[in-house]
Amino acid sequence: MLVIQCPFCGPRPELEFAHGGEAHIARPSDPASVTIEEWGAFLYLRKNTRGVHAERWRHVRGCGRFFNALRDTTTDQFIATYKAGEAPPASATGGAV
Ligand SMILES: [Zn+2]
Repeated sequence: MLVIQCPFCGPRPELEFAHGGEAHIARPSDPASVTIEEWGAFLYLRKNTRGVHAERWRHVRGCGRFFNALRDTTTDQFIATYKAGEAPPASATGGAV
C-alpha cells in the first residue's frame, strides 16, 4: 500500500487521501478584467506532465486539510509534501516544477 506523508499528521495509507488536481493554480485577482480565453484557461487547462508534477491532495479521512505534493507520475512515487501556500521544497524539485 502506498503511504502518503500528510504535512500535518505524518505518514498515512493512501486510502485516507483524495486527489485534488493540479497545484498552484491561481485565480485571476480581477476576474472581470480577463478575456474569455484566459478565464477558460484558468478553469479547464491543466498540465499533463510525465514525470514530477505538483498536485493538491486532501487528507479526507484524517485532518481534512488540503496540502500539496510533488509526485512522479511515471512511478507514482511521492517526492515531497508541503502545506498549501508554501513553495515546493527546492531540494525536491530539481528545477522540474
Ligand atoms: Zn492530515
